[in-house]
Amino acid sequence: MIKTSGIVIGTKNKNKKEEIRKILSGMSLPLLDLEDFNNVPDVIEDGVTFEENAAKKALQLAKFCKLSVMADDSGLEVDALNKRPGVLSSRYCGEDTCYEEKCAKLLEELDGIPVEKRTARFKCAIALAGPEKLHFVVEASCEGFINTELRGEYGFGYDPVFYLSEYNQTMAELSPDVKNRISHRALALGLFKEGLKKFVVNSVH
Ligand code: IMP
Repeated sequence: MIKTSGIVIGTKNKNKKEEIRKILSGMSLPLLDLEDFNNVPDVIEDGVTFEENAAKKALQLAKFCKLSVMADDSGLEVDALNKRPGVLSSRYCGEDTCYEEKCAKLLEELDGIPVEKRTARFKCAIALAGPEKLHFVVEASCEGFINTELRGEYGFGYDPVFYLSEYNQTMAELSPDVKNRISHRALALGLFKEGLKKFVVNSVH
């Protein structure tokens, strides 16, 4: 089925999609799904920044869908590792390793590094593009430390090792409601929503 108006949420990740729908609800803009399209191509994420990857994904998918597409890219930067794993977060220590292994490897790499030098941040970039051009990109981050052990059961990915000193908890110990208020993705979606409002107004007038 081909849809002819609205914005396509350019991710196949169900959790991300639901979060995006919730935050963008009330904007009276039809939100479409990549599942409405057949044979959606995989976009190669070879950018060196989150913004580059988000922009590339949005633009390529918009060309394919012939509609405006929003796409995101996110990951973890660890200062003591020169900002690794960064854009390679999902591929850190191999694409096929599970997150327990990725978190364990991260703790091993940081073994012996004192707490004040374990600073890190989650970053999220979100782009909006039409078939012809990129409209805008926003980026937000959430600052924390890499803990010395895995803690907590909520969330996904590196959440069990990402410690937030203001809560004295890891991201995986925070309830999803709290995470969805303070996370890099929630903050980036807030900026995206503001950008979208301006973009819609400017496109109409
Ligand atoms: P992508 O944005 O789907 O490419 O995800 C990149 C990777 O960054 C994920 O697979 C996780 O490794 C990591 N990541 C991104 N956001 C989060 C988060 O909220 N918690 C934990 N890990 C995350």
